[in-house]
Parts: sequence; structure tokens; C-alpha cells
Amino acid sequence: MVAPINLFRVVIAPANFLLWGLLWLFPCSGCRDATPLPSSPLPHPITETYEGTGPIQIVATVGMVGDMVQAIGGEHVQVTVLCGPGVDPHLFKPTRDHVAQFLASDLIVYAGLHLEGKLNDLLLRLSHQRPIYAVAQGIDPKYLLPPDSSDHAPAKAGDVSSEIYNTADPHAWMDVAIWAEAGRGLADCLSRFDPQNAADYQANYLAYQRQLLALHEFGQQRLAKIKLEQRILVTSHDAFRYFGRAYNLRVEGVQGLSTESEAGLQRLNGLVDLLVAKRVPAVFVESSVSAKNMQALIEGVQARGHQISLGGELHADSLGPANTSASTYQGMMRHNFETIAAALEE
Ligand SMILES: [Zn+2]
Repeated sequence: MVAPINLFRVVIAPANFLLWGLLWLFPCSGCRDATPLPSSPLPHPITETYEGTGPIQIVATVGMVGDMVQAIGGEHVQVTVLCGPGVDPHLFKPTRDHVAQFLASDLIVYAGLHLEGKLNDLLLRLSHQRPIYAVAQGIDPKYLLPPDSSDHAPAKAGDVSSEIYNTADPHAWMDVAIWAEAGRGLADCLSRFDPQNAADYQANYLAYQRQLLALHEFGQQRLAKIKLEQRILVTSHDAFRYFGRAYNLRVEGVQGLSTESEAGLQRLNGLVDLLVAKRVPAVFVESSVSAKNMQALIEGVQARGHQISLGGELHADSLGPANTSASTYQGMMRHNFETIAAALEE
């Protein structure tokens, strides 16, 4: 019997290898024509229009972005998400298959603000070859949090070359009202890219915005019941600063803004002091980050005689698993609101 030809190995994989090699050996094929990388950390606005006939093939980097693209694009788009449930976008490294997926798409949408740390250079290079959009382009800089909370220099509204886009905290979806606003930029991008369906994109956006603003209000009300002195949210890394600002909680991450940073002993000891002093009843792990540090923290607090529990698992940088209520952006945020409220209100 003749073995079936493995089409992937014979044709597609070498082709991918070639694409991959081309991208990295010649970082942008247009380099020789002196096409510079954008001076802003965000891609140039899209000027192309969609010429295809079927649904627009869109690759989204993370689930929160994919959810927004699907909600606004509706029946006119087909969305592939690269970082699935539990995958940490800070550490996600693209393979040549991912590069091929990007290059085969009609449009690429990513979160931006260096969330996709290891993808950033590739995305900027791809911006010379594919239409590409960062959701951060739709966020007014005045809503962005600087990386260090001690630095509150206000950004200039509407200035997309502002340094704030290079340094801001990327976890903006954790404030549902900001994410609702950011959707407007994506709806405008899709409307420009595919003008004949612009009315649908705008209508879908308004429906999505309404749902998100109702969810934002639900979150505010649900978390309002936590006692003032116990409004302290300790999680695995600094993903909840927008959340804390929007829903009035002091937030402390064991690791920094990116999961690449290490938690120091001094940081852990400082958190133990805080949790014991404020009698905080619970701390939380995140589904895309190892729970190791949080276990050390709980043991440290208990050794000081304060009973503290693990309040549950939150979804910070990825959606929850498929077939669970947290598998959509709205479900994920609702899960976070419910889990935090249940563990911190006594
Ligand atoms: Zn993060």
C-alpha cells in the first residue's frame, strides 16, 4: 500500500519555513525601499480595503481581542485566536506556523501596549505586509495607566505617537468601560476595511457597547459590598490595576506588569505584612500564571497567625476554558467580579 502523502510536511511546512526565514533574515521585505518601522509603537492606520468575497479571515492574538472582533464583525468575519485559554500572552513565542497564519490572514488584530511582548517586533514587521490593527489605537491615552503608579503625568488626548503607548500598562480590558470604548475604534477600522458592511459593524458595535456598559455597572454594584478596609486585591501579577481603578480596590500583584519579572523576597514579605495588618480574607491566582508564588504568600501569612484562603482563580490575560461560562470576554469578567466579591466580602 502506498503511504498517503503528508501534504503538510511536503508542501506547507517548507513553505512556512521559507516565510519564516524571509521575515527574520530580511526583517521587512520593503527595508531596501527604506520603509521604516512606525515611529509610534502602534501600526499605521489601515488604508487598504477588503477585496475578497467570503468572510474576512482575521487572526487575533488573544481571546479578549478575538471576542471583540467576533462581536463587531459578526457574520462578515472568521476569527482565529492565537493564545488560547490559559496561554500567557507576555511569554507567547510565535512559531513559523503562526507566522504563516498571520500571512494567510486578511487582517491581524492585536491588543498592543506590549502585551504581546515577544510578538511585538514581528507584528510591526508584518504591518508592512498585512493590514494590522491594535485595539490600543482605539483607547484615548488619557485612560491609560502609566507603568509606575507614582508617575501620573497626564498624556495628551489623541496623540498616538505619545510615549504613553510605549510604556502604559497593557491590561486595559480589565476596565470594562474602557474596553467598551475601545470597540469603537475597531468598528471604524472594519468599516474602512470593508465599507459595504460598515452599517452592520456600527450596529454590532452599539449592541456590544450596550452589553459591556451594563456589565461594567454590574461589576461596580457587585464589588461595592466589600468592606472598605478589605478592598485589597492580591493576585499573581500586576494585571488588575485598571480593574482596581474602575471598581475601587487597592490592587497588589506578586509579580510586576509582565509575568517575565520575578517576585523578590522583599516583595513577598511586604505583602505578608499588608495582608496580616488589614486582615484580608483571601488572595487570588490567575489562570495563565503559575500558583507557586501565591502558595508561598499564603504560607507566610498563615505562619503569622492570620487565616487567609485562596479566593479562587481569576482570568487576567486569557479567557476561561471553552464550554465554561468564562470562555467569552463578558463571561470572564463576570467570573472575576463574582469570585472576588464572594471571597472578600465577609
Ligand atoms: Zn499580564
